[in-house]
Amino acid sequence: MPQLRIEVDKLSKTYEGGIKALQPLDLTITDGVYALLGPNGSGKTTFMRTLATLLEPTSGTARVEGLDIRHNRLEVRRLLGYLPQDFGFYPTLTVEEQLDYMALLCDLGSAKDRKEAVDRCLSEVNMAQYADRKVGGLSGGMRQRLGIAQALLNSPRLLIIDEPTAGLDPEERIRIRSLLAELGGDRIVILSTHIVADVEATADNVCVLRFGVNLFTGTTEELIERVRGKVWMVDVDPAELRTIKDKYRFTGVYRTATGMQIRLLADHVDHASAVPAEPNLEDGYIGEVERARALAAEE
Ligand code: ADP
Ligand code: MG
Repeated sequence: MPQLRIEVDKLSKTYEGGIKALQPLDLTITDGVYALLGPNGSGKTTFMRTLATLLEPTSGTARVEGLDIRHNRLEVRRLLGYLPQDFGFYPTLTVEEQLDYMALLCDLGSAKDRKEAVDRCLSEVNMAQYADRKVGGLSGGMRQRLGIAQALLNSPRLLIIDEPTAGLDPEERIRIRSLLAELGGDRIVILSTHIVADVEATADNVCVLRFGVNLFTGTTEELIERVRGKVWMVDVDPAELRTIKDKYRFTGVYRTATGMQIRLLADHVDHASAVPAEPNLEDGYIGEVERARALAAEE
């Protein structure tokens, strides 16, 4: 299948009351997993709902395969599956019944066609053996997988999943991450998260948002490279922790057998024990947030 392409063109959203949830955003998204990374309130859900044609942009637009989200809503909807941050199921239905019910609402055809779609989606999220389970008894991770199965019913080339790992325990989180990475194999998956490790484990490309402003767009490697040479490990005495904390931006604090070690971001470090460290995605993310903060302080 040819590559799918999304072009986001100066898309912005201001809610009634004047909250600028999304400042003009430009992005190009092609096949694979694309992550929106940012703290709560940074505009991730607003962006996803707008792309899914559930929310009107204030200005700008986006095109999915050349189809404009403002003018070709129905055609765009046919290309996408969307799983909101909070979604509900009927607890008394079984997994299979729930999906069949959704397939009916999606107008997926005869009982036989629906059964085929339901089976395909269950196997895509590795839940075939849970078809007869009651939805009400599912764990958080299984519920999330069922939600994803539901979003896959119309075989979308674009899957939009809002906070797929929120509220999951560590083991479930890891399973969902690997599922998301798999799903990105032959379609676009756009996911949102505030957890850097989710991005590390799943995404090829990332868009960092903060207060509705796009701080970075590019590959995860590019985000890491931006802080190369600026990451340090320093052994500190607990007594000097406070002074160092005031002076530098920490990205990690670790206990060691003899005291403490901190990981920090800085152009230069004025400390005898400082050694340069290999940057990781968390460092890159914090680096962008710090850069934005410094720019805002200058204004
Ligand atoms: P995120 O998903 O990153 O947490 P949101 O897109 O939900 O961010 O929210 C971005 C900003 O827009 C926040 O300040 C939020 O309070 C505000 N917001 C979200 N939805 C609405 C709405 N329906 N009306 C007014 N403000 C909203
Ligand atoms: Mg959100």
